[in-house]
Amino acid sequence: MKRLVILGGGESGVGTALLGKEKGYEVFVSDKGKIKKKYKNVLLNNEIEFEDEQHTVSEILNADIVMKSPGIPDKVALIKQIREAGIKIVSEIEFASKYTDATLIAITGSNGKTTTATLTHHLLKQELEVGLAGNIGDSFAKQILEEDYRNYVLEISSFQLDDIYEFQPKVAILTNITPDHLDRYDYKFENYIASKFRIIENQTKDDYFIYDADDEVITTWLQNNQIQSKKLPFSLTQVIEEGAYYKDKKIIITIDNNQTIMPTENITLEGKHNIKNAMAASTVAHLLKIRKQTIRESLENFQGVEHRLEHVLKINKVQYINDSKATNVNATYFALESMNAPTVWIVGGVDKGNDYRELFQFVNEKVKAIICLGVDNKKLIEAFGNLVDVVVETQSMNEAVKVAYKIAYAGDNVLLSPACASFDLFDNYEDRGRQFKKAIRNL
Ligand code: ADP
Repeated sequence: MKRLVILGGGESGVGTALLGKEKGYEVFVSDKGKIKKKYKNVLLNNEIEFEDEQHTVSEILNADIVMKSPGIPDKVALIKQIREAGIKIVSEIEFASKYTDATLIAITGSNGKTTTATLTHHLLKQELEVGLAGNIGDSFAKQILEEDYRNYVLEISSFQLDDIYEFQPKVAILTNITPDHLDRYDYKFENYIASKFRIIENQTKDDYFIYDADDEVITTWLQNNQIQSKKLPFSLTQVIEEGAYYKDKKIIITIDNNQTIMPTENITLEGKHNIKNAMAASTVAHLLKIRKQTIRESLENFQGVEHRLEHVLKINKVQYINDSKATNVNATYFALESMNAPTVWIVGGVDKGNDYRELFQFVNEKVKAIICLGVDNKKLIEAFGNLVDVVVETQSMNEAVKVAYKIAYAGDNVLLSPACASFDLFDNYEDRGRQFKKAIRNL
């Protein structure tokens, strides 16, 4: 019997444990932290051996194969030991994809993964049996075991791609590449770029690669590297013969002389970045032969994803918008760009080495007041203090929302788009977004 050791007892780890057991492995799960009760119960009920708050090295180095949770960095001593012992380390998508022959649509990028994955799933599910997995919802491994869909839309981080060997999606989407998570890539942007492009490394000429043709990092890489996949770029600025582009408020998709034209006036998603996401998702739908009318209707009735430019409430004709998921400057760039009214902007948190200059133009044009929400707001004040008349420092969400309420007039927007991580004052971005919504409802 082959021994499968799983490092990390979270969603992907426990899913892999279940699938591994079913496929005849002797499975052992080891987690340095505490395993959540809900996952412990699954392991107990399925008689899968595990440990938490420790790693017993002797129980790990006897593995035939190791599945590493994407949260564990490569530089951890145990991972080095496993590699030195010559044991293969794989990610969940690598392990699980061996056990399905479903059509895989894999989505990666620095921003827009969840939105594009959720929208793609929404378009496909109207006419196909399709699962949504990866960084969303139930793990891919568990769904293969329990659902066995014929198609999967997978949201995939670079960390998952770091440990693939044969993973080969039929359709790969790369939404964009901007610097992020560089601490995991020796602070080298090129390493992070290379990691993202691994999504196509096993594709053949029968597979498809959908990507943002306006993204210079992507196009430069493509100029310098040969790829096998069929390219289907999308663009907001240029006419694309094979792929998708945007003109006169319409998305025009052409694949093999078959064209779909979709008006975008009535879609609920806002902002140029969401037109990009919509182009990527509709290209997949078109490719998988979803009816044109279905694509049009489904684009219009898609309600968006929580914490991504989510319209919360209108109070006294002021629109409150929750974009808590904007944890980097690029995401906030598109949020500010999409504002079509004077905006009170709540920003701040843990700065990841942000360069705020690219926001200056929109701040000048659209932002009437800045509310800093973070433990350390110095850098924000330095960057924007001279651009905006009103800059207020706050230390809690309630305070920030109350100040916003006072400053905003009828017709204005109040936008939470922090451009920063949330860990100084909140558990995570979801907590931050929920506290924002609660504070608004309490006004
Ligand atoms: P991810 O899963 O990659 O983090 P999300 O869909 O959760 O992406 O969106 C994260 C943030 O980025 C949100 O603030 C959202 O409004 C913004 N965003 C969404 N799509 C894009 C895009 N194509 N380009 C830039 N920013 C985007």
